[in-house]
Amino acid sequence: MLERAGAEMEAELDEVRGLPPARAFGRVEDLAIDFQRDRLMVVTEVLARCCVASGMPLKSRRNAAWNFSVGERARRLLKIVECSLGAPAFQVWLACPAAACQERFHAAVLFSDFAVRPATQEVGVELSGEKMVRLRVPTGRDQAVWKERRFATKGEAIYEMAISLARDASNLPVRLGRSDLNMLDLALTAADPLVAFVLRRPCPKCGNHAQFPVDLEKCALECLQDLRAVMIEDIHFFAKAYGWSERQTLAVPQTRRNEYRRLIAIEETELL
Ligand SMILES: [Zn+2]
Repeated sequence: MLERAGAEMEAELDEVRGLPPARAFGRVEDLAIDFQRDRLMVVTEVLARCCVASGMPLKSRRNAAWNFSVGERARRLLKIVECSLGAPAFQVWLACPAAACQERFHAAVLFSDFAVRPATQEVGVELSGEKMVRLRVPTGRDQAVWKERRFATKGEAIYEMAISLARDASNLPVRLGRSDLNMLDLALTAADPLVAFVLRRPCPKCGNHAQFPVDLEKCALECLQDLRAVMIEDIHFFAKAYGWSERQTLAVPQTRRNEYRRLIAIEETELL
C-alpha cells in the first residue's frame, strides 16, 4: 500500500517536473544511446528516452531532463535501473580504506534507500556578517555550463557557482573567505544526499567500519551498460539461431529469452 502510494507520488512528481513516468531500459531504440559520450549527455539521453509512451517529443524530453536538478537526475536514473533490474537492490564495489587491508568487496544498495521525498529546490546559507543568501539547487544544465568553464581554484569554482545559483546575487559579497566558501559547498552538498551518497558498511575482511562515498550516477550507468551488453549478445544469438531482428529479440522478455537459450543448449548437447 505504502509502496503504491510512493510510486504514485513519484509519477506525479515527474509529471510536475515535466517528464512522463520512467520505464525500464531495454527497448530497441535504447541501443541508440552512446554510453561513450560525456556523462552529462549520457544521463540526459537515458532520462529522455526511458519514459513511458507519451506524445512528448524527444527534444522536449531532453530539455526537461536538463532542467531536472542534479539530485532529481540521479533519482530518476536509479528509478530506471530499478525498473530494468526488477530487483530490490543493486550491487556496488567498495574498497576498504584501511592501508593494511584494501579489500575490495561487493555491497548491495537498496532502491528503497532512495525513498521519495520532496525535492529540495532551494537552500539558504548564512554567511559571516549574518548575511543570508538563497541558492536554487543546480540542474543538469548548470553542470553542463560549469563543465565548459575553467576555474583556477576550487574556491573560485564555488564562488562562480554560487553567483549563478543565487536568487539575489547582489547579496553575495564581492569576495568570500574560506569559511564562507566551505559553508556554500556544504549547503549545496547537503541539499540532496544522492549527490554525495555515502554507504556505511563493515569491511568483511578486517571488520573496519568505514564510510564509502558512492558515485551513484556512475554505478547506475554501469548497470545499464551491462544490460546493453546482454541485449547485444541476445540479438546476435537469436539472429543466428532463429533469424530474429533486433526488434523481435528485444520484444521477448528476458526470462523467455533465457528459456529459449536453454532449449537451444539442450538440443546442441543432444546433437553432440
Ligand atoms: Zn578491511
